[in-house]
Amino acid sequence: MYIAWDIIPSCWIIMLIGLCGGVCSGKHAIAEYLVQYQGFQLLELSSTTFPRISNGPGDHLSLQHSEEKRKVTTQSVFVFKTTETLLTFVTKRWRERWVTTDIWDITTLDLLLQRPFFLLVSVDAPVSLRWQRFRDRCCSRQLDPPDLERFVVWDDKHLYDKDHGRTYLTDRAQVRLFNPTSSLEELHNALGSLDLANELRLRPNWDQYFMQLASLAAQRSNCMKRRVGCVLVREHRVISTGYNGTPRNTKNCNEGGCPRCNHGEAGGTSLSMCLCIHAEENALLEAGRERIGKGAVLYCDTCPCLTCTVKIAQVGISEVVYSKGYSMDEESAAILRGAGINLRQFSPPRNGLVYLQRTDAMD
Ligand SMILES: [Zn+2]
Ligand SMILES: [Zn+2]
Ligand SMILES: [Zn+2]
Repeated sequence: MYIAWDIIPSCWIIMLIGLCGGVCSGKHAIAEYLVQYQGFQLLELSSTTFPRISNGPGDHLSLQHSEEKRKVTTQSVFVFKTTETLLTFVTKRWRERWVTTDIWDITTLDLLLQRPFFLLVSVDAPVSLRWQRFRDRCCSRQLDPPDLERFVVWDDKHLYDKDHGRTYLTDRAQVRLFNPTSSLEELHNALGSLDLANELRLRPNWDQYFMQLASLAAQRSNCMKRRVGCVLVREHRVISTGYNGTPRNTKNCNEGGCPRCNHGEAGGTSLSMCLCIHAEENALLEAGRERIGKGAVLYCDTCPCLTCTVKIAQVGISEVVYSKGYSMDEESAAILRGAGINLRQFSPPRNGLVYLQRTDAMD
């Protein structure tokens, strides 16, 4: 399950993971996992100027904070006074993997996020569980644990303080982990199947890139029935884009421009009465057959309908890539197959919350 140190390929790309999150959410445990099992090395920012939320039950533990981090690794720890020196150090050591849990303010985060090798990962956990973990930590040091109410008030301040609240940081995370695991073993199992250090998290591949452009085009849709976006591509270059809606110089669908769409007809019915041009049609019309040429790929966030499919075949598209299914996928697939056009589904990796839990495959 775990990736052993010596079998990690030596050609991975440089990566710096920044872990941020609430009190006892598990970011140090995740850093420790990355160091132990995925060839990461820990970096520390020793800045004493970062804002701290004080007057809380954690004050008596804060002195032990750096001691906690030291436990993360028995290897040497690299400590830097400023974010700039940390970044210079990392930039020179490409092909290595780095992790830090020392992001405390927006200025630091802005500097890190400018770099293409930086991935911000937030970690959160249920407050009842974080309180339990905090109590355990206090008890292991013969300190009085706070009651739940005191912990919650202090934790709220940590997260939502108007100037220094951690929410400002976690809000910008590219990956958000939710950590309800109750043991290190469970956490490690969940992380093992997550592939957190996958380089696609840093830089999208072509499929991801064009599908995201198609989804962005869909945001411009004015059709009352459904948002659809499309991008036409050849040799990894965009030829044209399209989204669905009424023709130019006519009233937008969402302003009453298409009676069919505005009368709540069921999806896929009375299509011949519809005035909305589909995303694929718009992209094809915009490009024109001459410019489309050979080897063009059509990216569409929804599988093309029948009327679009026959037009796609007619202009000589080579491949259709779609993300979500539609009501007539089978029929569309049959037409494309008959016309010698490759059809495949590609759904970009889901952003947002990743639930860390043991999967059946792990048992
Ligand atoms: Zn419409
Ligand atoms: Zn319509
Ligand atoms: Zn269509």
